[in-house]
Amino acid sequence: MRHDIGIDHDLCIGAGQCALTAPAVFTQDDDGVSALVPGREDGGGSPLVREAARACPVGAITVTPRAG
Ligand code: SF4
Repeated sequence: MRHDIGIDHDLCIGAGQCALTAPAVFTQDDDGVSALVPGREDGGGSPLVREAARACPVGAITVTPRAG
């Protein structure tokens, strides 16, 4: 399933749990702030996207299933 993924960069503390959990989808920029891997903005169908959102200690990631 494809998803709409949101990252609240004001909340993100750069803990890196998202990139550790779903490295195909999440990465970190030079400041350690979470970013989406180019081309994987919809999660690439990875079931790990939800795990990454759960793993974030500050709840900065929102995952919404994309209709269709
Ligand atoms: S797990 Fe959360 S706080 Fe850590 S880098 Fe990812 S979005 Fe930021």
